Amino acid sequence: MTSINTHEIDIVKAKTSKIDSVDFENLTFGNVFTDHMLVCDYKDGAWEKPIIKPYEHFMIDPSAKVFHYGQAIFEGMKAYKDENDEVWLFRPDQNMERFNKSAVRMAMPEVPEHIFMDGLKTIVDLERNWVKKGIGNTLYLRPFMIAVGSGVIAQPSTQYRFMIILSPAKSYYQGEVKVIIAEHYSRAANGGIGAAKAAGNYSAQFYPQKLAQEKGFQQIIWTDDATHTKLEEAGTMNVFFKINDTLYTAPTSERILDGVTRKSIIDLAKSEGIKIEVRSVLVDELVAAAKDGSLKEIFGAGTAAVVSPIVGFQYKEHYYELPKIENSTALQLKDKLTKIQYKLADDKFGWTV
Ligand code: PMP
Repeated sequence: MTSINTHEIDIVKAKTSKIDSVDFENLTFGNVFTDHMLVCDYKDGAWEKPIIKPYEHFMIDPSAKVFHYGQAIFEGMKAYKDENDEVWLFRPDQNMERFNKSAVRMAMPEVPEHIFMDGLKTIVDLERNWVKKGIGNTLYLRPFMIAVGSGVIAQPSTQYRFMIILSPAKSYYQGEVKVIIAEHYSRAANGGIGAAKAAGNYSAQFYPQKLAQEKGFQQIIWTDDATHTKLEEAGTMNVFFKINDTLYTAPTSERILDGVTRKSIIDLAKSEGIKIEVRSVLVDELVAAAKDGSLKEIFGAGTAAVVSPIVGFQYKEHYYELPKIENSTALQLKDKLTKIQYKLADDKFGWTV
């Protein structure tokens, strides 16, 4: 990583590191955190100076608006280590931009670049020993913002806390993923907050997700709320369908999160000469394609798993199994993207920072 201007960030280092007590071979996703966290408070209409300090609990008033009105947003991104021990971020500008779009939608203040980006680079640099070499090893970065102002009145807070915490992760493998197509529940609606990475979007999925899991499905493919006829996202991933020789993914909208992996896959597929079209796929079209054999692949795309192939889907009590494909487009794209992230392939797009 290049040199970082830290004069705008206070750093209080932990006296000892926990790193030697961590079993890096047996990490479960999102449960272990590094030695430090970044904290930056917003008060009286302005951001204060950020501080990086030892990871610890903190106090907030029980009436803080985050607890009652859910003013909370976050991002999910990763740092990767190459063979020369250099640490890289993947398109962090895209996460910062999306974070600030989420902030606007949730009536929260935007976080300026010198806090978000310099804060991110500084804390990742400080924790670089937590990023392990080798494909699949990453440091998951979680910037987030909560409303810490007190008072149980349904109004936006005047005080906020922006934080970054970091969690080492192994490659994310879910096993076989079978999905069920949503016929009743929705994760997002026109005019709603689906395009924001707002905490409430995730809690709203827990109940339908639990029902799906009870039926033996790992994920839900979300459909549009108004008609439940258009395929939109797979759980917390964007979703791609390969029908005949063409990949399809829905255009982003007020209901769909503008995924960094999704847009990277679109660009990568185009540059590899893979046919790709950004348009909504209808449930009926998917069922017809599964029946006549033209449906080749379905896969989710997101930071956590990069690409997550789906083995079959259920719709109206009927289960459709996908063909088993050697050297699938999903895995080819995953391989290409992963190699860029770990600097094992030329990054002609300039995505790594
Ligand atoms: N959709 C939703 C709802 C998500 O939570 C995520 C994960 N951030 C994605 C799509 C994928 O986005 P990204 O590729 O930026 O991780």
